[in-house]
Amino acid sequence: RDPSVKKPEWLRQRAPQGERYQKVKESLSRLNLHTVCEEAQCPNIGECWNGGGGSGGEEDGIATATIMLLGDTCTRGCRFCAVKTSRNPAPPDPMEPENTARAIASWGVDYIVLTSVDRDDLSDGGSGHFAQTVQVLKNLKPEILVECLTSDFRGDLQAVSSLVHSGLDVFAHNIETVKRLQRIVRDPRAGYEQSLSVLKHAKFCKEGMITKSSIMLGLGETDEEVKETMADLRSIGVDILTLGQYLQPTPLHLTVKEFVTPEKFAHWKDYGESIGFRYVASGPLVRSSYRAGELYVQSMVR
Ligand code: SF4
Ligand code: SF4
Repeated sequence: RDPSVKKPEWLRQRAPQGERYQKVKESLSRLNLHTVCEEAQCPNIGECWNGGGGSGGEEDGIATATIMLLGDTCTRGCRFCAVKTSRNPAPPDPMEPENTARAIASWGVDYIVLTSVDRDDLSDGGSGHFAQTVQVLKNLKPEILVECLTSDFRGDLQAVSSLVHSGLDVFAHNIETVKRLQRIVRDPRAGYEQSLSVLKHAKFCKEGMITKSSIMLGLGETDEEVKETMADLRSIGVDILTLGQYLQPTPLHLTVKEFVTPEKFAHWKDYGESIGFRYVASGPLVRSSYRAGELYVQSMVR
């Protein structure tokens, strides 16, 4: 972190609690599933796994968890992300879609976010692997809601279409930051226009598809640039938006330029909903899968 920028009080994490959280955690230990929620020590785990406010009181909502497919090693290297990188990660486990889908189907969550590292080494960028996981899972448990939070598949729109038609409920791809900061923040193989084209294609290649994206704040973007990014996402029909504070994972990563206040995050939620997003989740600790099931349900009643 830039030494002149001090970490504020509102980023302090609360210990997760709640009856449903405990049940989900216990059942997880019997399954061979690796959640991003636990591995990234996500501060929202109480809220997401309880499907409620996370205080232990609200537990009848839609419980959400995030699972990583395609291994733990990425072919890209974004300057905000601490994931391991390699040009040649291990080949995907061909049994992963079947095994993961079975484990998720027998687990107690209502909404699952499937995500992955970028796999530029695979001819389809891994989209077939995602699609297969969704298909098996929906066959086993049709009522489960599935979001895929994907890479840009190097802009391969065929890969996007085949995933969108696999039976998923929400297609998510993060634009991450404003246009000017793309080259500083993301791997050079990613880009603003490419991300917009992926989201646009996902929205329009299947009627009624719900799309979602996310922006990190605190990287030096201006308010005008945030508004421009939101307008660009709306112009291609993105339905749900999340905004959260960028936090520097290690001293080798980009420094935090600003800790955006909770009031400012609240302002962006109001602004985003005023320009037509069905739902905006915006707060210092919000991550792109933050209470994703709740957001989905809220967005569908608007
Ligand atoms: Fe991290 Fe995704 Fe960038 Fe890979 S592509 S380095 S997983 S943010
Ligand atoms: Fe898991 Fe995402 Fe919720 Fe964090 S925000 S607990 S990673 S579902």
